[in-house]
Amino acid sequence: MRVLISGAGIAGLTLAYWLRHRGIEPVVVERAPNGRMGGYAVDFFGTGYDVVERMGILDRLRSHRLPIDRVEFVGAPGRPGTRMSEALLGRVYHGPYLPLMHSTLEATLLDAVADVEIRYADSIAEVDDTGADVEVGFASGGSERFDLLVGADGIHSLTRELVFGPESRFLRPVGCSLASYPVTDRYNWGRMRAHYTEPGRQVAVYPSDERGKLIALLVFRSPHNENVPRGLRTDLLRTRFGGMGWLTSALLAEAPAGESVFMDRMAQIVMPSWHRGRVALIGDACGSMTLVSAQGVSMAMAGAYILAEELASDAGHERAFARYQARMYPEVRRRQNNALLYARLLVPATPAGVTAQSLVSRVLARQAFAPLLRRQFGSESILLPASAELGRG
Ligand SMILES: Cc1cc2nc3c(=O)[nH]c(=O)nc-3n(C[C@H](O)[C@H](O)[C@H](O)COP(=O)(O)OP(=O)(O)OC[C@H]3O[C@@H](n4cnc5c(N)ncnc54)[C@H](O)[C@@H]3O)c2cc1C
Repeated sequence: MRVLISGAGIAGLTLAYWLRHRGIEPVVVERAPNGRMGGYAVDFFGTGYDVVERMGILDRLRSHRLPIDRVEFVGAPGRPGTRMSEALLGRVYHGPYLPLMHSTLEATLLDAVADVEIRYADSIAEVDDTGADVEVGFASGGSERFDLLVGADGIHSLTRELVFGPESRFLRPVGCSLASYPVTDRYNWGRMRAHYTEPGRQVAVYPSDERGKLIALLVFRSPHNENVPRGLRTDLLRTRFGGMGWLTSALLAEAPAGESVFMDRMAQIVMPSWHRGRVALIGDACGSMTLVSAQGVSMAMAGAYILAEELASDAGHERAFARYQARMYPEVRRRQNNALLYARLLVPATPAGVTAQSLVSRVLARQAFAPLLRRQFGSESILLPASAELGRG
């Protein structure tokens, strides 16, 4: 069986690995000219951790762990902040926790699929599901037949657009946008991620994997769901974050040209079915949760792992797709619902809302609330134990 995977991100590369591992031939097409750089960190724990452990790449990832041991919510001038200690984070994540640059994870997955054909700087352009196979037309010209097509092409998936319908049918914006870029460490920064909130805007700072470099993450309310042209991104940030306290003016002064700023609306993808005929979706393409879930990577990797497992079961692609969705969908919806709640609280619109947020974070930072946070984040792995999978037929 030959499977075309659209997108060489976390979901696509993980699927390529596990398909190959189970004797199915993957071919990957990636729009970017080569491996992308995701200039932001991901909190990595739970199911994703389980998947990389089974791939045997955990040691390499561990050696790139970001130096983050605690989270601080910086108080308004004259007000106390809140600290979530390493011990508390350990109880919330309920197991190993590995903060990583997104690019580190992608690069490690790329190495793990070195023997898989990856066609860079190309994209699917047309899809014709004939019933017997899928004929895919490529942007570079020409077409080719595959047994199956899997869209792992992220929140703005073209596979979804071509096969399931326009993005507007499935995209649920949460009313905020985010931007991220690297800055120089002029602050003798410790091993922490710090957040500072004012009405309608929040700034977070944490160490990157490069010595002397930090990452600035800026989140702001954008209720009108606007899409900002690349060239205008820095100007927009200076307008939205102008006059904000804490380190913000220094961080804004270091913002690169708009083209180099990562910016997107925070949104979820909610769709009733993740497969149609010989085409299926995985990762953010069908189940984006937003970064507040801290589970996007884990669910992308879990979906890839489970889809490969079901496709290898010889039950036929229709049953495999249905079983993949039945196993993954409730997990993703639960995390989406929880993330929606947190996303609404993330950037309060009013001073009273900011005060309430600060009180809530102080309460949640108590050890006693760790089990509640653990349930909210869905930190437990959703994979069957490896030993149990051997027995499944
Ligand atoms: C700032 C930020 C912080 C985050 N923090 C966390 C966190 O702490 N924990 C966590 O678990 N998750 C986090 N996430 C979410 C996480 O990054 C995503 O859920 C995850 O990367 C989804 O993986 P994916 O492979 O589905 O999509 P992506 O990583 O978006 O990969 C999609 C790939 O498809 C390619 N592509 C797109 N269109 C085409 C096309 N037409 N043809 C070919 N290729 C195409 C893209 O170039 C890309 O390589 C965060 C996200 C952001 C933006």
